[in-house]
Amino acid sequence: MTFSVASASPVLLALPAWTPGSYELAYWARNVSAFSATAGGKPIFWDKADYQTWRVRPPGSGELSVSFEYRNDSLDNSNSWSQPDFALLNGANLFLYPVGRPFDFASTVELRVPASWRVATGMPQTGRTMYGAPNYHDLVDFPIVAGRFDFDSARVGSGWLRFASYPASVETAPRRAATLADLSKVIGVESAIFGETPWQTYTVMQIADSTFAAIVGLEHQNSHVDLTSVFAIGAPVLTSVYAHEIFHAWNVKRLRPVDMWPYEYAHEQPTSWLWMSEGVTDYYADLALVRSGVSDSVAFFAATAGKIGEIRALPPFGLEDASLSAWIHPTDGTADAYYPKGSLAGLMLDILIRDASDDKHSLDDVMRGLYRDAYKAGKGFTGEQWWKAVESAAGGKSFADFNARYIDGREPYPWATVLPLAAMQLLADSVRVPVLGVTMGEEDNGMRITAIAPGSTAEQAGVKPGDDLVSVGEIPGDAPTLAHLLRAKYGNAQSAIVPITVIRDGAQRSLAAPLQFTWQVQMRIAPLPGASAKAVRVRSGILHGTTG
Ligand SMILES: [Zn+2]
Repeated sequence: MTFSVASASPVLLALPAWTPGSYELAYWARNVSAFSATAGGKPIFWDKADYQTWRVRPPGSGELSVSFEYRNDSLDNSNSWSQPDFALLNGANLFLYPVGRPFDFASTVELRVPASWRVATGMPQTGRTMYGAPNYHDLVDFPIVAGRFDFDSARVGSGWLRFASYPASVETAPRRAATLADLSKVIGVESAIFGETPWQTYTVMQIADSTFAAIVGLEHQNSHVDLTSVFAIGAPVLTSVYAHEIFHAWNVKRLRPVDMWPYEYAHEQPTSWLWMSEGVTDYYADLALVRSGVSDSVAFFAATAGKIGEIRALPPFGLEDASLSAWIHPTDGTADAYYPKGSLAGLMLDILIRDASDDKHSLDDVMRGLYRDAYKAGKGFTGEQWWKAVESAAGGKSFADFNARYIDGREPYPWATVLPLAAMQLLADSVRVPVLGVTMGEEDNGMRITAIAPGSTAEQAGVKPGDDLVSVGEIPGDAPTLAHLLRAKYGNAQSAIVPITVIRDGAQRSLAAPLQFTWQVQMRIAPLPGASAKAVRVRSGILHGTTG
């Protein structure tokens, strides 16, 4: 990094303690080594002012250079990562900021990569290898991927959608085209909610790696970075993650709780509103899929019922408390539970607003109004603004009691009274579920069996930990929805001998045992027969994004 100073005063340069969107302290300075500072090519004195701040002493006015190496060998979408043919760079790990100065300084970034590599970033390009950001907040909000990857694009409205997928060929060309087509529709629905598309080009950057055992995304103003297990490629859940991350371009990157406006980088920024920034975003991801026709009402009901089931399995917790606790990852099972519960709070508010306004208004009006009154006014939104917008959309109805019970409080959500207002009902089914008794984990670049339950089907068949599961009842062992497929195939069988194929010590073995079953209670949402015409309009409005 080079920059000019006006005097011999010490310069304090810091790296962020976190990457916005990833609500945990990471202290990126810990990955720095070989720090050096020079003036006119000569080394100058530096030391640390604190654990993430370097103090450089210039000899006088003029240009200074600082350089360092950055080490990382773990895959994390808030961090940087490199492979022989690829690099993910996050600005919050790499770009120093001057402590105590405004963040409004412009920067240019030069990227030197092998000639055969591609580059994808939301950072505006200003030359063949040059990129630029108008201020520090933007500079650290444009992650960069460089390397050998598939890179496709499609026109969306008057702009472009780009899909970078690493490693090359992990996604087939038809699937990449289908992803672009689905996301074009999703972006149309999400833009309609806010009344604008706040970018010219949006870039989805996806990294699939066999060492990564989950699916996660991290949002930015005109891009997002997804990390996924290679085994999840092709699963519909990926489209839902994209829809969530893209919605963040409006909700949290632009419309943001005042507690995080502006972002500060030296320390955490707890807010009691993450349930709105994350959970309501998740609600709108479900809505974007059904409203765009990418999924259908059955999938929307199933996703919602799944969230209700998730929350029922947890100890009671308040959404505001869970939001504040995000930074410390609570160990009682409620960490990240503000996602599903916040999503359900969004659904309840949507129903109650539509019901109170005879379906003239919806939660969409609240989102659009706050986007205009807070973000467009250059501010973060306050809790007072949120509830005022909700109450105004609901024709003046008070939500103080709702807030006290269901957002600040820990009361169970009143589905029996709320869902019928939208011609829906919650049902509990007892379902018979096949149980194999294996725990899977990723080992040696593949999914391996890591544990066998005593007395289980797998143990009786002779499956051993370390086996590579090839298939169960002709269903591929690495299918992301194996449990679901097994239930579809065997759930209604009185009894069944299930063939299991494994690879052990390089040799394929065919095993078999009687399949065991257990009963589970599963929540289900279904249309309510005999609902009023108004309730049917409310349901239709939610699913189609209409009012009136
Ligand atoms: Zn999110």
